[in-house]
Amino acid sequence: MVAVLKPSATSEQIENLTQWLKERGLTVHISKGEFYTILGLIGDTSQIDTELLESLEMVDKVKRISEPFKSANRKFHPDDSIIEIGDLRIGGPNFQMIAGPCSVESPEQILAVAQSVKSSGATILRGGAFKPRTSPYDFQGMRADGIELLLEVKKQTGMPIVTEIMNANHLPMFEQVDIIQVGARNMQNFELLKELGKTNKPVLLKRGLANTLQELLMSAEYIMAGGNHNVILCERGIRTFETYTRNTLDLSAVPLLQELSHLPIIVDPSHATGLARLVQPMALAAAAAGAHGIMIEVHNDPAHALCDGAQSLRPEQFAELSGKIKKIREAIAI
Ligand code: PEP
Ligand code: MN
Repeated sequence: MVAVLKPSATSEQIENLTQWLKERGLTVHISKGEFYTILGLIGDTSQIDTELLESLEMVDKVKRISEPFKSANRKFHPDDSIIEIGDLRIGGPNFQMIAGPCSVESPEQILAVAQSVKSSGATILRGGAFKPRTSPYDFQGMRADGIELLLEVKKQTGMPIVTEIMNANHLPMFEQVDIIQVGARNMQNFELLKELGKTNKPVLLKRGLANTLQELLMSAEYIMAGGNHNVILCERGIRTFETYTRNTLDLSAVPLLQELSHLPIIVDPSHATGLARLVQPMALAAAAAGAHGIMIEVHNDPAHALCDGAQSLRPEQFAELSGKIKKIREAIAI
């Protein structure tokens, strides 16, 4: 971190500031120019509040050189992280297809969707039991019963399951769940992230509706700082001024996150677009961009889905997509 001091900074002010920074464990290199004095701060600057530093009377500006996220940072972990779930691997050269309905609705629905997506190549089953709905009058999910149904289908199909948590008090219900999803609306629910950090469960962390990639990585950092390094990032579109789509899929997030971090990255084109007809092209683009997997909403009867029917693929559409993904993966491997 570098702090540029104002020409008006007195020797006493510089001495006091240097002392304050040293007390915080930093080494301070002072270089005095004709007009400006520059302090080079070396050490763990993650504890330093840059805004506070910049607000001091003698400070002109402050610039961070290194990123504030450490555990998620590729600089300190050059190899891709690979998260293991049984004999399934997420990250590195592996590609996983997560598919299933937005919400678990009935035993018949979740089993039928699971069997069909499994037969066309899905490796992980998704299904919401606790649903974060914008309106309190909308279907809120089957809650604990939904988790029971997912566990039943996991037993019958052998598919690992991913489902969303909204409240840390619900953690005991997620004991048999393979991947715990933190939804976009909870990406910055720091107390929830801290609790997940105490577990060793893989966490699928979705990017918030209006959050930067650095904020996403800082949320991953919350989980990792607690000791749980099994974090999977998910790009699911962000809010922009565009209204034709539900969100705007930020595909550049994929190569950028790979540059910045060693964590696996999954793309969810269903929530990113909100429109079933856009899901296939965006899923193919995600695979081409180098994502470690995709998450697709699939429903056996989208017209009657209790949640997100408009963006849900029918099983045969998922089968077609799955075949094309294979070809894209082969093409980019060349
Ligand atoms: C979901 O995946 O079911 C979901 C609610 O997604 P998001 O948090 O990205 O809106
Ligand atoms: Mn949904």
